[in-house]
Amino acid sequence: MRIDILTIFPEMFTSVLSSSICGKAIDRGNLQVFTHNIRDYSQNKHKNTDDYPFGGGAGMVMLAQPIFDCIEAVKHIESEKAPYVIMMSPRGKTLTQDKVQELANHERLMLLCGHYEGIDERVMELVHEEISIGDYVLTGGEIPAMVLLDCVSRYVDGVLGSCESVDDESFTLFGGLLEYPQYTRPSEFRGMSVPEVLLNGNHAEINKWRRQQAIIKTVQNRPDLLKRVELTKSEQELVDSILKK
Ligand code: SAM
Repeated sequence: MRIDILTIFPEMFTSVLSSSICGKAIDRGNLQVFTHNIRDYSQNKHKNTDDYPFGGGAGMVMLAQPIFDCIEAVKHIESEKAPYVIMMSPRGKTLTQDKVQELANHERLMLLCGHYEGIDERVMELVHEEISIGDYVLTGGEIPAMVLLDCVSRYVDGVLGSCESVDDESFTLFGGLLEYPQYTRPSEFRGMSVPEVLLNGNHAEINKWRRQQAIIKTVQNRPDLLKRVELTKSEQELVDSILKK
């Protein structure tokens, strides 16, 4: 997969693109990520990328011209793979695990990072979708783009190691529950023991315990997710008893 990121702060991506799983995936060639400075495309003599909003109001708006030129120039690099263009925006559709999986099917993504009050609306002519990482407002689209890059790249072949799985995680596990509690050695730590069931090697029992714990965590933190999951009668009773408390 190729991801092009359009930003006025490309330096913010340096450590994300050179560290950890993303960094290794780029080194191995499983993932290609390029940043492009929108400012380089400004035709303004001061290389400005923003101006005052028509109609008045607080803040500045990013100019259409440098963004149009940047998108058009970058699109034509490897033009046989037309990018799916995403504007990072709090007014976009919320990024969910389902959306991440859907985006991971594209061969090429282009992520546009806004700043200030946002961008000139005419840029939306070139954008396929606006995506938000949650119901809050950040100062710029760079951190949202890093979030999208990170979670989409987990679905790209070869990015995760053989012992990591995208299916055995919160939102995909047991049809969409949150993850059950995990423990590692030692089995006793500061007077706290690992649940006995995890130590006995009985995989049917372990799986049953994990599913039950996943249901409990989901009811406590994200009861909305339970709608997607088929529960047995006794599991539904467990849910009802927790909700009653
Ligand atoms: N005036 C905009 C509004 O009310 O929707 C907010 C602009 S915000 C200060 C500047 C930029 O940060 C946005 O253009 C967008 O690229 C990015 N941004 C902020 N919050 C975001 C979020 N929750 N998800 C994705 N991008 C976000």
